[in-house]
Amino acid sequence: MKQADIDARRAMPVPAAGLFIDGAGRAAADGATLDVLSPLDGSRLTTIADATAQDLDAACGSARSAFERGDWSRRSPVERKKVLLKMADLIEARALDLAVLGVRDNGTEISMALKAEPLSAAATFRYYGELIDKVYGEIAPTDGSVLGLVHKQPIGVVGVIVPWNFPLMIGAWKIAPALAAGNSVVLKPAETASLTLLRLAELAIEAGVPPGVFNVVTGQGPVAGQALGLSMEVDVLAFTGSGGVGRRLLDYAARSNLKRVYLELGGKSPNIVFADAPDLAAAARVAVYGIFRNSGQVCIAGSRLLVQASVADDFAAEVARIAAAVRVGDPLDLSTEAGAMNSLPQLERAQGFVAGALDEGARLLSGGARTLEATGGWYMQPTVIADVTPTMDLFRNEVFGPVLAVTPFTDETDAIRLANGTDFGLAAAVWTSNLSRAHRMVRDIRAGVVHVNTYGGSDLTVPLGGHRQSGNGYDKSPHALDKFLDLKTAWIQL
Ligand code: NAD
Repeated sequence: MKQADIDARRAMPVPAAGLFIDGAGRAAADGATLDVLSPLDGSRLTTIADATAQDLDAACGSARSAFERGDWSRRSPVERKKVLLKMADLIEARALDLAVLGVRDNGTEISMALKAEPLSAAATFRYYGELIDKVYGEIAPTDGSVLGLVHKQPIGVVGVIVPWNFPLMIGAWKIAPALAAGNSVVLKPAETASLTLLRLAELAIEAGVPPGVFNVVTGQGPVAGQALGLSMEVDVLAFTGSGGVGRRLLDYAARSNLKRVYLELGGKSPNIVFADAPDLAAAARVAVYGIFRNSGQVCIAGSRLLVQASVADDFAAEVARIAAAVRVGDPLDLSTEAGAMNSLPQLERAQGFVAGALDEGARLLSGGARTLEATGGWYMQPTVIADVTPTMDLFRNEVFGPVLAVTPFTDETDAIRLANGTDFGLAAAVWTSNLSRAHRMVRDIRAGVVHVNTYGGSDLTVPLGGHRQSGNGYDKSPHALDKFLDLKTAWIQL
């Protein structure tokens, strides 16, 4: 990736975007639009359609008709695979265009966005394309007088609702397995990160996904998102976002057709450093990376640093020193290490957490303030706060911004107590040279992933999902397919 190639794309005009329903763009039923503001400088980038409930009905109807028509749902797995592999190739061929467009929409630093967004989405379409013709049904071990066959079938219409932090990557984690399994999809992106997903819908048509099989409906959560949640046509809802909206979706399902609801929610993930960590300097560097990339707007961000008391002060000071040197700035500059916050409310929310923690008696070690205000964009200094206690708001609740809370612990029991001391259970890490302790911590920390002597490593081969109030169900890995396939038994008397 060269800076000149990025710069050539940074000011390209972005045409006003419509809804993508039944294979073509269209305006919202009432013609309403939403302004898309760029986090880089606060300017208006373009507009997207602001869907009404009527538009959602049209998209869900189109998805249902496509499913019943069968030109995708009944196509052989090997044929669907060819289309999904083509889609992966198309995404890859346009990766830089997609990455720059996405950054202008959501503010993630380009060095991370290229890999985490289009390239990761392409890999995901390839993974599920490759997987789907290796999925077998079962013959049950019944009495010999009957044959019990267990078929795996697509379910129908899958509603997908995603957040703004990594729209293509998180979108692909749900769209790719849902399509691979033969379902139709209606996707509702976040208000502040819709543009790349609309492009993805066009690429799907180019790759050979039939019209109506993949629809993208932009608009506001409480209108378009709610209509998707309440739709009688939607069989499965796959969501990534906040716990508050997750609760609403469960309520919509209860009030409509009891659709299955899979939730990938937030976290307050502990990064736990024992005094016997193999390399404390490396642990400090990784702790900084583990919270401040994408300005902390990462679901698995290691936002609570728990450090053994004997090394806590020195370790926190080192983390604060490295954090203060993180290069915050223009997300389209390749040397930037932390880009913009996605929106002004998100920036203000993060600052509110800082002020609240300081009021409650915590101590600011570095950062804390808005920065680069003259750009008109939404930037915040990487912030490290010490003396954070378990009763503080900053200890218990997700900021989703560049704010690291530091808390000391005494021993292993105390570390586990603190680690499990929130309602969340998404990710964690433990740094230690003691192998037995590492395994005990993995066993006892209530989280979907526990890293050992690293933070945030992962790939498509392993599932990502929350425990406790961080959600249910899993994205990635072969397990993600289970959400989008029904089991059906044929019981045949011989
Ligand atoms: P959000 O919950 O505010 O919004 C997510 C989506 O829900 C958006 O598309 C929004 O339009 C829609 N929505 C809002 N109100 C709705 C309603 N009433 N009905 C239906 N849909 C509605 O979350 P966000 O601010 O976009 O994203 C940040 C959150 O996402 C954080 O909590 C973060 O931890 C979480 N997240 C989780 C994961 C994971 O894998 N577990 C990954 C990324 C982000």
